[in-house]
Amino acid sequence: MLDSLGGLERTHTCGELRESDVGKDVVLMGWAAKKRDFGIFTFIDLRDRYGLTQVVVSEEEAAEAHSKAKNVRGEFVIAVKGSVVRREDGTVNTKLPTGAVEVRVEELLILNEAKTLPFELEKAGSQNLASEDLRLKYRYVDLRRRTLQENLQMRAKAMRKMRDYMDSQGFLEIETPILLKSTPEGARDFIVPSRIHTGKFFALPQSPQILKQITMISGLDRYYQLARCFRDEDLRADRQPEFTQLDIEMSFANQESVFRVMEGVLKEVFSLVEGAFETPFPRMTYADAMRRFGSDKPDLRFAMELVDLSRELEGTDFAPFASTLESGGEIKCIVANGCAGYSRKVLDGHQEFVKRYGASGLAWIKLGEETTSSLMNALGAETVTRLANASGAESGDAVLIVAGRKSVVAASLGALRKEIAKTEGLIPAGIFRPLWVTEFPMFEFNEETGNYDPMHHPFTSLMEEDVPLFKRAIEDGETELLGKIRAVAYDIVINGYEIGSGSIRVHRSDIQSLIFEAQGLTPETARERFGFFLDALEYGTPPHGGFAAGIERIVMLLCGTDNIRDVLAFPKTASAQDLMMDSPGEVDQEQLDELGLSIEEKRERSAEG
Ligand code: ASP
Repeated sequence: MLDSLGGLERTHTCGELRESDVGKDVVLMGWAAKKRDFGIFTFIDLRDRYGLTQVVVSEEEAAEAHSKAKNVRGEFVIAVKGSVVRREDGTVNTKLPTGAVEVRVEELLILNEAKTLPFELEKAGSQNLASEDLRLKYRYVDLRRRTLQENLQMRAKAMRKMRDYMDSQGFLEIETPILLKSTPEGARDFIVPSRIHTGKFFALPQSPQILKQITMISGLDRYYQLARCFRDEDLRADRQPEFTQLDIEMSFANQESVFRVMEGVLKEVFSLVEGAFETPFPRMTYADAMRRFGSDKPDLRFAMELVDLSRELEGTDFAPFASTLESGGEIKCIVANGCAGYSRKVLDGHQEFVKRYGASGLAWIKLGEETTSSLMNALGAETVTRLANASGAESGDAVLIVAGRKSVVAASLGALRKEIAKTEGLIPAGIFRPLWVTEFPMFEFNEETGNYDPMHHPFTSLMEEDVPLFKRAIEDGETELLGKIRAVAYDIVINGYEIGSGSIRVHRSDIQSLIFEAQGLTPETARERFGFFLDALEYGTPPHGGFAAGIERIVMLLCGTDNIRDVLAFPKTASAQDLMMDSPGEVDQEQLDELGLSIEEKRERSAEG
């Protein structure tokens, strides 16, 4: 028989009682985390979001409660009424904030039972959790884990800090619709069929980009929102199909004004944890980041920069290197400090690793007691020594070399740099290294379509110095020049994570049209998709710019997790499913009929394809 709560009210949480509460009559409610029966005494660890309190039921003092306690099993929901007593010497638990006291129970209510959990919540001191799929299916149980509860609390605190800071700077929180029209952030849209307008569709916002710019045209001056965004793209460890951004936009702003606001808000948010950082953040151009780190999101917690060996190898007759240089490629290396002892197996592993990024192989030099190298036969001892010197390596180091197209060298060595830092334990814990990456290219070449796509989005303004080049590219049809044009676009990177991006926007309709043209949109398509916006730009648009920072990534850093699902209450799996609700799911035929939709049978589709 279950008890009912009746008029009983909770007086304290399970994390609240201290020695100063001794003698108080209290009512606690929560989940039975653990029970220990010692004959006439039964001990229960009562748990809620705030903590754990030990309660004791004595057969002598509370016979009825004691016999009920016998029936309590793991995760039963109970209420206890009793008095706070000091724990006996020797039984004080210093690890628990409530560990100096316990509650002597007078009355115990079993408010609800619980089935045996599908997995053990948390094994003390162990990270051995049940499989993530099982935990996601029973997310309500998984969310009882202390770590996840703390993460969600951290998320809430971070969001509160953001709101407070933005408010203190005069930004207005403005909500924008979720049922929208396609917004170009480079991902696929999620679309929602309209019932009233059969055959037409809304798109969920990939970001509120156009709308926030329109608030500037409207004179709202400073906008912010904790905006939900939806992108139907292939997921990675740090991506989800829906996520939240701290989205801002400001009028009459240049890059410096945006930087100041973002540095200010992030400094506030990161003050929630140890290892806070200084402002202003250092800056690096995109070109420098790619050259020095092989990545536009360099992790600055460790060095190991890429070193260019191309000049040292000019005129080499070693065919693979010679042809790389002839075709405009490069030969670069990183130096793994203290790794001269790398075994064949480790080097083979690194070789396989760089191949995943398109490299054809990995050459090496080991500066052990004697210098050994995979290039010894091909280049000779003298050149090998010259390369080692040029790389800056010292005795005891290993030099790892990749030759190839610039993009391949950057991607493979950039990734290997991170991999080695991880495996060799070179990444110091508990520090944050933020960075502004600036001067991003405006366009990147899309090999599939043969077009130049905007690297950020088409509303990004061009760097003043590059406007003549842009005009030439358009007017004289020198399309390949588009790859050289830089934008006033910037990212914030912290510890190798892209925290967010922003830009100063195009505020002139004529330039905006040219950018659409450059990316291969016909004037008709540009009109059809963005006509309303091109029109809006003609009604008095102030210069403006902004930024959007990914809240999940920020909270991941604050919580020290590299799994995005650990900072969302109800995340989706890597294949974009909600295992608890079993979504996406099917809908009734009636609903489909109303929407004028019909589902092609999988069978038919696979027969066709
Ligand atoms: N809308 C952009 C994004 O979601 C950010 C911005 O430019 O403000 O990445």
